[in-house]
Amino acid sequence: MDFPILTLLDTEASVAWIEQHFHPDGFGCPHCQASLAHARLFRINRGSGLPVYRCRNCQGVYTLYTRTIFEGAQLLPTQVVLLLRGVFHGQSSAQLARELDLTEKTVLKWRHRLHDRAEAIQPDTPLPDSATESDEMFQNAGEKK
Ligand SMILES: [Zn+2]
Repeated sequence: MDFPILTLLDTEASVAWIEQHFHPDGFGCPHCQASLAHARLFRINRGSGLPVYRCRNCQGVYTLYTRTIFEGAQLLPTQVVLLLRGVFHGQSSAQLARELDLTEKTVLKWRHRLHDRAEAIQPDTPLPDSATESDEMFQNAGEKK
């Protein structure tokens, strides 16, 4: 059964979750490391709906997805959260595509990218629990190759 979960998930809460998991050391300019307080709102990205910031320090532009696996992705923050959740829980691509209002091809593309990234960062020793594992996966998804 499909649920209309995309419309039920809060955008602000999703943004906060992505910020916390993809930028655990604080979200700011990825070019010069100046904090977000040193940036001004430049525009809103049409695809993701995310604010695009321009750093006052180095004039670089960035969003929440810059230098993460989702850089350049035209996905809403709610879609990113639910995509990660669905892939992590092994939800079928067909169902995820329907629930996230994406094509199955798009879901498969992201599934493969996430699995490739997860494999690349696989530790040699087993992790203590699945919570640690998922945290590591999300934090590493937030790092550029
Ligand atoms: Zn900067």
